[in-house]
Amino acid sequence: LPRLPVFEAIARHDPESTVVIHSNSGRRFKYGELLGDVCKTRNRLYETAGRSNIDGERIAFLVENSYDYVVTLLAILAAKSIAVPLSPAFPAPELQYIINHSEALMLLSSSKFAPKAQEVLKTELDVQPAFLQLNKFQGGGPHEKVVLEKTGPGSAGMMLYTSGTTNRPKGVLLPQSVMTAQARSLLQAWEYSASDHLLHVLPLHHIHGTINAVFTPLFSGSTIEFLFPFNADAVWKRFAAPFLTPDQTPDPDSQSPLSRREKITFFTVVPTVYSRLLTTYKSLPIDMQSAVRTAISPANLRLAISGSAALPTPIKAAWSELSGGNVLLERFGMTEVGMALSCGLDVADRVDGSVGWPLPGVEARLVDVDTHQVIDKGHERDPDGRERVGEIQLRGPTIFAEYWRNPEATAKEFVDSKDARGRWFKTGDVAVRRPVESAGKSTAPSQKDWTRGDMYFILGRRSADIIKSGGEKVSALEVEREMLALPQVAEVAVLAVPSGKWGQKVGAVVILDKDHVPEGRWTPLDMRRALKGRLANYKIPQVLKVVDHIPRNAMGKINKKMLVKEIFQDEFS
Ligand code: ATP
Ligand code: MG
Repeated sequence: LPRLPVFEAIARHDPESTVVIHSNSGRRFKYGELLGDVCKTRNRLYETAGRSNIDGERIAFLVENSYDYVVTLLAILAAKSIAVPLSPAFPAPELQYIINHSEALMLLSSSKFAPKAQEVLKTELDVQPAFLQLNKFQGGGPHEKVVLEKTGPGSAGMMLYTSGTTNRPKGVLLPQSVMTAQARSLLQAWEYSASDHLLHVLPLHHIHGTINAVFTPLFSGSTIEFLFPFNADAVWKRFAAPFLTPDQTPDPDSQSPLSRREKITFFTVVPTVYSRLLTTYKSLPIDMQSAVRTAISPANLRLAISGSAALPTPIKAAWSELSGGNVLLERFGMTEVGMALSCGLDVADRVDGSVGWPLPGVEARLVDVDTHQVIDKGHERDPDGRERVGEIQLRGPTIFAEYWRNPEATAKEFVDSKDARGRWFKTGDVAVRRPVESAGKSTAPSQKDWTRGDMYFILGRRSADIIKSGGEKVSALEVEREMLALPQVAEVAVLAVPSGKWGQKVGAVVILDKDHVPEGRWTPLDMRRALKGRLANYKIPQVLKVVDHIPRNAMGKINKKMLVKEIFQDEFS
């Protein structure tokens, strides 16, 4: 195998330690088996291609969350090719789009998804990828000594497609060096270790599930337990398992998830998952509830992280209360940059509404959305005392290389710089920086260098979340946060609604909490009364629509441009 840092790290771990567990079956795989299996699969890729040079070729794969996924991903990197993970949840047209767009040389699938893959291959595609159905690894294989050669990574990397929240998904090319830089940054900030046991319930075609919860833990020798498909009840049962009393625990040989003894120490998911867990908790049996509370207490669950969308404060508060003070750590990231900003390991560094500081190795700046001037440290307010809102721009070794076959988009999203450290990537997300007295005082060496200075607070996407109403700028995220704090509101999306008079006005689409509004009637006046004192007048929504459902994509995100047209049709002329 080529000498990639991830392979070197894996080779150093205790071969007897567990790399992957399948939560439902209890099947285990060891670090000692991993590189041998990677090597075998890499050779099958060569056979299928009919050549042993597939450097830089795109290889799409459809494999469920499992040990086989990990082997496949690493085997593609080992072949110096570009891994393009596909989601089993994608409908055929979405799969076609990605296979065509990435010009895939091969399509790999597990036996489970072979029929789906075959079906896609039968349709008219612009490319003719070779098909390979992968063998299932059973675990307990021999610990083969794998030689790491002196060869470099070639064009090895990953291509991940963005969530498609604002447009068609874009193909983001992440060379192996970028993946490694992202992993190293997180290793330092979040202190993954060989004693960490992650419960993994995320999709494996986005950065959150892949880099944060698979690629990075491989460097630290942590254990990744895949619970797939996601099911809130099963997640709670798994958390509770090590803390059940002997009479609640099934025979350890029964392979039941409830017989699992190792506690979960690390959990990273999106806000909607926390929200579903909190709801499901209420219907658990009492003894299970008590085991769950112990399992997620700070003493047991070392780190619970939230990201991919803004974390509503009520969810954070409810989790904190349930767990006896385990405060969710929020971070900000995107496909193009991996994780960019994060709160710190010290509980005082997990400030409500803030995504923290630039992670180790990440350089960040804010660029005023009106004046296009860099907002220097200490100039966060304009002469009138108003907070200056800026776009987050980033650079450093963790930033992606390019949008695949889209030089125009790549050129558009970067700004040149005059110094030698290179161009800046425009995230399209806007934020403010604020001093926070209580935070940033960590004395732990790993936290010290980066958890310093003013903290970043995300206001939302420049294109969809900054509402310009009568000369004022309103952050949709801020209004959402306040509305979610109202007992009447279960879910909300705040949108820019076109207005002849104001340019734009603030609109709210709300799902009501049935417990608090049983008759389902909540008028704009009720809303205004409830928000008075919480929000400045100009931020209080001027239009309200109560609905039963707000459409979200796989990562729990809302396409606001689409939603506003759908819901406020009559306001568009
Ligand atoms: P597309 O680029 O295709 O429209 P997308 O931007 O949703 O989709 P991703 O790369 O998966 O695709 O998501 C990145 C975006 O998620 C960020 O630009 C930001 O808007 C949002 N995001 C991520 N973490 C947070 C957070 N902690 N708070 C608020 N927003 C967040
Ligand atoms: Mg995006």
